[in-house]
Amino acid sequence: MKSSDLLRKIPSVTELLESPQLQPLVDRVSHNVVVDGVRTFLDDMRHELQHKAADLNIPPMSELAERIARRILQGEKAPLRPVINATGILLHTGLGRAPLAEAAIEEMVAMARDYASVELDLETGARSHRMAAVEPLLRSLTGAEAALVVNNNAGATLLALAALATGREVIVSRGQLVEIGGSYRLPDVMAASGAILREIGTTNKTHAHDFTDAIGENTAALMRVHTSNYRIVGFSAEVPLAEMIRIAHQHDLPLIDDIGSGALIDFAAFGCDREPTASASIREGADIVLHSGDKLLGGPQCGVILGRRELVERMTRHPLARALRVDKLTLAALSATLRLYRDEKRAVRDIPLLQLLSTSVENLQNRAERLAPQLAACDAIESAEPVEDVSQLGGGSAPMHDISTWCVALRGAGRNVDDLSRALRTGSVPVIPRVAHDRLLLDLRSVFPRQDRQLVEAVESLGS
Ligand SMILES: *Cc1c(COP(=O)(O)O)cnc(C)c1O
Repeated sequence: MKSSDLLRKIPSVTELLESPQLQPLVDRVSHNVVVDGVRTFLDDMRHELQHKAADLNIPPMSELAERIARRILQGEKAPLRPVINATGILLHTGLGRAPLAEAAIEEMVAMARDYASVELDLETGARSHRMAAVEPLLRSLTGAEAALVVNNNAGATLLALAALATGREVIVSRGQLVEIGGSYRLPDVMAASGAILREIGTTNKTHAHDFTDAIGENTAALMRVHTSNYRIVGFSAEVPLAEMIRIAHQHDLPLIDDIGSGALIDFAAFGCDREPTASASIREGADIVLHSGDKLLGGPQCGVILGRRELVERMTRHPLARALRVDKLTLAALSATLRLYRDEKRAVRDIPLLQLLSTSVENLQNRAERLAPQLAACDAIESAEPVEDVSQLGGGSAPMHDISTWCVALRGAGRNVDDLSRALRTGSVPVIPRVAHDRLLLDLRSVFPRQDRQLVEAVESLGS
């Protein structure tokens, strides 16, 4: 058939809208969305018919309407959805890093629903400070004189450098010029702040005299950056923080310490690498400490600035502080999370990241052994076996440390590893597995026990 004849056979928008497949969608989604969906589908179809008419024909009306309905429903699925993280990467930046504690969620919901005393002192009725909800907690948990919270640690670094060092030099060891996840590179943030990066030492070795030799008229600060996602080992040397602080203070300069992950407690207790803590850095005498809120702290995305009052106030007054400020929801979640840290046991019990980290290997093994036969019984699965493996903290934390875990290794019935992972990702509850050595693993280290049932249901619903 000629393509012009085929084109004439395409049903009209009105006809399609009245079909039993699309009519109910008008109520469920919206008239405009369905009309748009039908038009776009028909336009695409006309385009195809004109360009490769030879082997095309037009499906019957009901099938056409069915296909359009499916396409519209697919488009209605929000791209941002909750997922089950079975990658074993606990602080997966692509999966939103740390999930929040119930207390933080409740606080956020309450503040979201109503107006909130964000900048109002309820006692006096006077205008108060946005940080009032979190500053006292941050001070008491870290020993810092003052605190300021901004959008994220990249923002904290940008603001600290802009307020303290625009047009002047900040001295950083070459071994610490970090890149975190591609879009964060310290030299680029430094350039954007207007501060001048003065690199010293070499990639593997920096000595105290490298700092003292570089200090001059135009020096604004010394900066230490935690190499959160790599280590320099072998023939290497770093100047310890205490020594850097001594050198900075001898020259009346501030020391800025970017500790990265923002551990408030000692992670050695979880068998992890020792991560720098904010309180240790403040105690040693760092003038400014910077860290993220959604890494090891286990709170919402934000950047925490701690340190000497006079310096923090300079940052608060800087115009970038307004551009980087956090909203009431972040303040609510951070404040609730910090309150849990007043009792370390409570923090470990109630903060999801710490729960996941502190789950015993035996517990994970039991769950893997219980889940494997349930998963193996699903039509889509040829075999499911419990296997021992290692998980990672991720999010640029503790790169050298493997965390023991148990997984369920899946083999698909008639689907290869890629097809099976795609099917899991696109199910009604998306499951994100780990693919390693051509095997598909569901790593239970990053799956909450309450999700075990959902995991089985997700695999059951794949069909065969
Ligand atoms: C993660 C990290 C950053 C960036 O923090 P964001 O909160 O992701 O902006 C900066 N510095 C270090 C050392 C980090 O580990």
